[in-house]
Amino acid sequence: MAYTFKQIFLPASKYSIKAPYIMVPQYITVHNTANDANAAKEIEYMINNNNQVSYHVAIDDKEVIQAIPFTRNAWHCGDGGGSTDPNALKKGNRLSIGIEICFSKSGGVRYGVAEENAIQYIAKLLKQFGWGIERVKKHQDWNGKYCPHRILAEERWNSFLKRIEEAMNDKNDLIEKDDDIMKFTNETTKAAVRDYLKQAVDKKLIDRSHLDKFDAGKLTSGDYEGLKIIIKQRM
Ligand SMILES: [Zn+2]
Repeated sequence: MAYTFKQIFLPASKYSIKAPYIMVPQYITVHNTANDANAAKEIEYMINNNNQVSYHVAIDDKEVIQAIPFTRNAWHCGDGGGSTDPNALKKGNRLSIGIEICFSKSGGVRYGVAEENAIQYIAKLLKQFGWGIERVKKHQDWNGKYCPHRILAEERWNSFLKRIEEAMNDKNDLIEKDDDIMKFTNETTKAAVRDYLKQAVDKKLIDRSHLDKFDAGKLTSGDYEGLKIIIKQRM
């Protein structure tokens, strides 16, 4: 992972304002904050005010921070008290996990990285829930609000979804880090990662020494995440 995952939970004393209903999530709703604060600041603000405005996760260029359990609803879709009826149109507030992508007001590199982190995180959630890409909604789908504003303004919603699908199909899955050296769940995965690095070396996108390091069992997951970014940028 290129990001650190953290949980800074909304106190239960505020559930009545910000997360009153038990939820069995069915969707993921994507937002842009339309602000330039980082994830920690967004979450702090959300937790500390008493407005009926809330969401589950904020993502910036370094962190993914969860503030509300996915088993409770949050108020982020502007579709009112909504419904849990699968056939209802207004169910965003009652059935979806709200994800805010930070830094969207001014954009730039840190927004780009935040968006990439969101893609990786959403792909991971979809896999965890056993869901397909059709579960990913934009705020606009629920109540017409122009959100996620930057993705919409840049006409990238379809490519955003495509990037999530690619991330889901990424065979370069690692098991959890252990002393930071890359370890693999199985030989197929290991071979796929080697093949990916080998191709990058053959295309002269990265130096051969990285592949040697991999073969020597010394490549760290941090090295690998960095290489993936470099390879993407140079392709
Ligand atoms: Zn929104």
